[in-house]
Amino acid sequence: MSDLIFYNGRIITMEEKPAEAEAVAVTGDRITAVGRTNDLINLQENRTTMVDLKGRALLPGFNDSHMHLIGYALTAEKVDLRHCSGVDEIVEAVRNFVRENRVEAGQWVFGWGWDQGLFSDPRLPTREDLDQAAPDHPVAIIRTCLHVLSANTEALKKAGIDRAAVPMEGGNIAVDARGVPTGVLEENAMSLVTGLQPPLDKEKLKSLIKSASAAFLAAGLTSVQTDDLASVGGELAPVLIDAYRELEAAGELPLRVNLQAFLPEPEQLRSFLGRGHRTGQGGDYFKIGPLKLLTDGSIGGRTALVSAPYEDSPDTYGVSVLARGEVEELVGLAAEHDMQCAVHAIGDAAVKMVLEVYQETARRHPRTDPRYRVIHASMAGPRILDRFENQEVIADIQPSFIPSDYILVDRHLGPKRAAWTYRWRDFIDRGIRLAGGSDCPVENYEPLEGIHAAVTRQDRNGNPPGGWNPAQCLELGEALYIYTMGSAYCTFEENEKGSIAEGKLADLVALSDDITAIDPPRIADLKVDLSVVGGKIVYRREPQT
Ligand SMILES: [Zn+2]
Repeated sequence: MSDLIFYNGRIITMEEKPAEAEAVAVTGDRITAVGRTNDLINLQENRTTMVDLKGRALLPGFNDSHMHLIGYALTAEKVDLRHCSGVDEIVEAVRNFVRENRVEAGQWVFGWGWDQGLFSDPRLPTREDLDQAAPDHPVAIIRTCLHVLSANTEALKKAGIDRAAVPMEGGNIAVDARGVPTGVLEENAMSLVTGLQPPLDKEKLKSLIKSASAAFLAAGLTSVQTDDLASVGGELAPVLIDAYRELEAAGELPLRVNLQAFLPEPEQLRSFLGRGHRTGQGGDYFKIGPLKLLTDGSIGGRTALVSAPYEDSPDTYGVSVLARGEVEELVGLAAEHDMQCAVHAIGDAAVKMVLEVYQETARRHPRTDPRYRVIHASMAGPRILDRFENQEVIADIQPSFIPSDYILVDRHLGPKRAAWTYRWRDFIDRGIRLAGGSDCPVENYEPLEGIHAAVTRQDRNGNPPGGWNPAQCLELGEALYIYTMGSAYCTFEENEKGSIAEGKLADLVALSDDITAIDPPRIADLKVDLSVVGGKIVYRREPQT
């Protein structure tokens, strides 16, 4: 009665008491047997597809607990500035993009991924720089952290940002000594420009979902938890949800999607709830997830909200994107309607504020199993760790932040607070639940890169030697757990997926080698050979060995 049998493998079940496992049998969309090759091979019938793993690892499919699927698909259509080592390279890249794509004058050009931390002259690109690249096009380029934007003169003109522009709450319009905008916009001020992008319709959204899904499956992701409304705008929620539901109904959604509903305006949240949406609703492939909010920025952009000033900028405490009262109102509204909450907080002041709001909300609206989440939870002093532990709040972490960030963390926060940052060993030792994600497109979406970073705390070139704060390294099993069971727990689906066990969904990934037998620095070099969702092989690497 088996449709699919994997045998001769190293089966990493992620079960608490793993049985000796070399083979897995699948019937329909479920796992029906886990055991020894000799036993399971007898389940073979005429119609059974047999997959010889030849000693390679088979794991539960990876589940990214926080990313931006549509944001990723859109970046693929933007100027990629991730590898620029200076403002002159940014100018060159924008100029080439306009020429190669024959972008007509007056059409928007968006770029993404620059990081002045990598520049020999670490200044921000300005209006004048981008005017050199494309004076006749409105140009807007977003920093790698997604919290700082540089626009050219044409873009500022279209956004109505001039000398008379007033500072805005939760954002900043940078001006020079004469009071003229430099083109640099921070946090909420970015929306003046990003809000002018051409609107997305349902068909466009569907094609973006399909192209991103194909990329994710090739990386072994069988489930993703995605905040798309931050990319498309809350007013598009009905269109986006329709797009996913129609793809699911047509059998064209190849992986499982949990939507983190970014609704930072109480009115938007009320109408979302009014349309009947609640956490956990949906089919096997598309589900409504938690309310998602954003309270601060990033460490790299020095916009993470910190309780003591930045080490290298004594007047800077970061940016508060939502005031505490607003967070209280939104989280309270969600709790009243039995919606889970997952709030972005990076700086210690933001993390503390969110945990306090969770505690007060839990007191006012008690629920048996709310599974409150803090997305990132990057800085955590001793009292913050206590709160996570006592309040049983989940931390949604991004191990890939380490290789990108560690130099800036040391520089911006100084040694004491750097030691509090990304301290995941301490989280696990206290029994705090972690879930693994990429925050893609902020970081590469490949879970193997994140697992590599969690285990080695190094970049792929082995830097820094010995790893950054190596006492916080995770064991391989722990790192795999957070990307599978840890993420499944976040969406209340730990009994449906996240491990290889009889009765669970057959969401599986086969790697090119036995991940437990290779040197940790080689983890990120492993390839994904097969991805299986609901018992269907949805990705196969070519050529197969
Ligand atoms: Zn994010």
